[in-house]
Amino acid sequence: MTVTVATKKAVIERDGGFCLMALPGCLGEAQTAHHRANRGSGGSTVLDDPANLCAVCVPCNGAAEDATSLLRMDLIERGLRVEKAATNAATLERSKATPVEYLDGERFYLVSATVRRHISEGRPD
Ligand SMILES: [Zn+2]
Repeated sequence: MTVTVATKKAVIERDGGFCLMALPGCLGEAQTAHHRANRGSGGSTVLDDPANLCAVCVPCNGAAEDATSLLRMDLIERGLRVEKAATNAATLERSKATPVEYLDGERFYLVSATVRRHISEGRPD
């Protein structure tokens, strides 16, 4: 199973419809869902969890895949990239525990395809 169209649409709506990366060449409007921790080829569907997905445009998603170390650090700092842990389940936990920075500078934990939680409310269960 991969990420369904319905899930992508929900994630884009959850994230306000805009690409969260806003890299050079960004289209502004989000079109797809980015895996914060990369699934990799043949990777586990565990990482298709909406908490590991965020709204991006296609050019930014491509740029993130080819990211230089500087860009990678920027994305990690903004919670848009999550480094892999020992297991896929641990990686997903890491994604859930890492808030995402939105374009207005506010940070939210991603809970589900429809719910995000502001960091002032504390970590979700
Ligand atoms: Zn973009």
